[in-house]
Amino acid sequence: MLYKIGFCCLFCVSLFSVEDVYLKTPSISRQDMIGTTVGIRPVRKTGVRLESELIQNKLIIHNYGYGGSGMTLSFGASNEVLKILDNQKTSSKIVAVLGAGVVGLTTAYDLLEEGYEVHIYSDQWSPNLTSNVAAGLWTPLSSSSDMSEEKKKLHQRLLEVAEKRFLKSTANYPEFAGVKLIAYYRLMKDISQEAFKPPSQQVVVHFDNGLIESARRTYRLGIDGKLFMEDLFSKVKSKGAVLEQKHFDTLEDILNLKEDVIVNCLSMGSRELFNDQELIPVRGQMIYFKPQDGIDYVLSQAVPLSPSVPDDPDNWVAIYPWSDRIILGGLNEYGEEELVISPEAIDRIIGNAEKCLSGNL
Ligand SMILES: Cc1cc2nc3c(=O)[nH]c(=O)nc-3n(C[C@H](O)[C@H](O)[C@H](O)COP(=O)(O)OP(=O)(O)OC[C@H]3O[C@@H](n4cnc5c(N)ncnc54)[C@H](O)[C@@H]3O)c2cc1C
Repeated sequence: MLYKIGFCCLFCVSLFSVEDVYLKTPSISRQDMIGTTVGIRPVRKTGVRLESELIQNKLIIHNYGYGGSGMTLSFGASNEVLKILDNQKTSSKIVAVLGAGVVGLTTAYDLLEEGYEVHIYSDQWSPNLTSNVAAGLWTPLSSSSDMSEEKKKLHQRLLEVAEKRFLKSTANYPEFAGVKLIAYYRLMKDISQEAFKPPSQQVVVHFDNGLIESARRTYRLGIDGKLFMEDLFSKVKSKGAVLEQKHFDTLEDILNLKEDVIVNCLSMGSRELFNDQELIPVRGQMIYFKPQDGIDYVLSQAVPLSPSVPDDPDNWVAIYPWSDRIILGGLNEYGEEELVISPEAIDRIIGNAEKCLSGNL
């Protein structure tokens, strides 16, 4: 009996004990700032466009609209393109891929793996694309009320396939560079606001600047965008993809291509070319800081919208390390598509991070 009580006590202690974690504080001082960047998230109101259509005997497979989750979902999307091609039972083994962002390149890679001859057409190449701006945090696509149940299921499927694929690159012989599992700390003032369901854990974080905060810790996939995009692009080239620099002004330009099977990974370019009015540009800005020893974790915190609403969906703090920099982001600017760094936005992002790291958010 005593043994049983002892066992129960031990069980309760281990269930409810909160681990103390000691972390180095990232420096987000302006002296350590090494750059800024800006990009457009290609958000689509009713969710991604992954479907085929026949236009003038050309099979067009659309693959775009991944919002702030394009890197996360890329391999889920390429897998879906292969399934669409399979179902169409096309005899052609030559495929044109339009666009060379992460979605175009992962599609090209998987087509090459399946033995297709791949011709990539794009007006710009890595490292000058939106895909090079993506932090590479694991970000499942958030569903909106405009989304059908079928689209939500598709998103789930993309996420599961992509997760399995990226996880393979965290093992001993990685398929791609720059992919790892990383500790992710979400600072939380009100620890009752979210359940700490396994596998997430409640911890107390002690920063070396003296700040002590409650946090939820999970281990997530993280992609170092620089290493990953470089590796993916070089693998696609070495597998034999033919690259052609080309800008498409009209749908006619696309239909004039010699290939009969075309995968459209033009992202925001699809708005005009395929008259897709569902695409909404959502601008984001990022700040880069010098790489810092000991910052081998992700730090995030919600920014309150008002005293009674703790989570503003368009402002947040996210600090994420790449091999050669620390990235600070956390802003959605709806409807903004001019690629300009806004000093006010940079001030806001840094201001939020300063409040986070001093316990004032
Ligand atoms: C600030 C910010 C942070 C982000 N963070 C993350 C993150 O942490 N995790 C994540 O998963 N995702 C993130 N994203 C989202 C991610 O960057 C996008 O979803 C992804 O890059 C979309 O990839 P894509 O290949 O569809 O588009 P792009 O990278 O934009 O590629 C489009 C391609 O099409 C070509 N193109 C377009 N129009 C034409 C035309 N008319 N003629 C010829 N070529 C054309 C372009 O040159 C380019 O090659 C972030 C985005 C931003 C802006």
